[in-house]
Amino acid sequence: MTDPRTAVVTGAARGIGLAVSRRLAADGWTVAACDMLDEQLAASAKEVGPLYRPFHMDVTDEADVNAACERILAENPPVLGLVNNAGITRDSLLMRMDAEAWRKVLTVNLTGAFLVTKTLSKTMMRQKAGSIVNISSVVALVGSAGQANYAASKAGLIGFTKSLARELAPRNIRVNAIAPGFIETEMTLNLPEEVRRGYAERIPLGRMGRPEDVAELAAFLLGDASCYLNGTVIPVDGGLST
Ligand code: NAD
Repeated sequence: MTDPRTAVVTGAARGIGLAVSRRLAADGWTVAACDMLDEQLAASAKEVGPLYRPFHMDVTDEADVNAACERILAENPPVLGLVNNAGITRDSLLMRMDAEAWRKVLTVNLTGAFLVTKTLSKTMMRQKAGSIVNISSVVALVGSAGQANYAASKAGLIGFTKSLARELAPRNIRVNAIAPGFIETEMTLNLPEEVRRGYAERIPLGRMGRPEDVAELAAFLLGDASCYLNGTVIPVDGGLST
């Protein structure tokens, strides 16, 4: 890749977002790495190198999102890629799930993607070029007991993806989603060992995924090689959802 191009990655300080950022930097993208974990962002910047540019951003705070995007657009044009990856879980069975756990998960995972996409799609529309990747989850496709809030937020992202794929295509902006299965990150680290083993046994490939497995697809979807993919939801789950 010769021309400069920037991709914004949310939740980029660690886990899947960090792996995506590393993979995009290897392809020559400048990465606007957005997260609330400032120290972790700084540590990751040292590790990945100069193409990884840290930006403080809370995706749930509209003013924060707009201020960070303004800086990103001024300092790193042109922004041609966006990976909506920031996400959280607050798991519990429905009977024990309070409204705050519902709201919080929907706000970070779904409203956060809306806020960042709305701001950055304006500049992509002007440029008539861009690719957006939303990180959904396999639980959006098959459900998960104890994760009604999380699954609803991730299923919402699929509707968001498919709608924007239609809405933005005339401006040459593609929108796709990735549905990762069980990936080894801090999000799944705290699960009890027997639960992790149980998951692994249900995965046809017999192991949990690595953040790099997701990063590979994200880089493909952002790049020109996927120029005819639009509105797709691609599982990266070792066959779990088949
Ligand atoms: P992780 O917890 O390691 O990383 C999530 C990142 O998002 C963190 O750096 C966190 O600080 C950031 N974040 C959280 N709230 C934020 C906010 N309000 N503003 C900005 N950043 C915020 O988890 P991960 O496994 O790397 O998850 C990345 C994405 O992949 C999430 O959307 C998650 O739902 C999705 N996913 C993960 C798995 C898995 O098994 N790990 C499976 C399917 C989907």
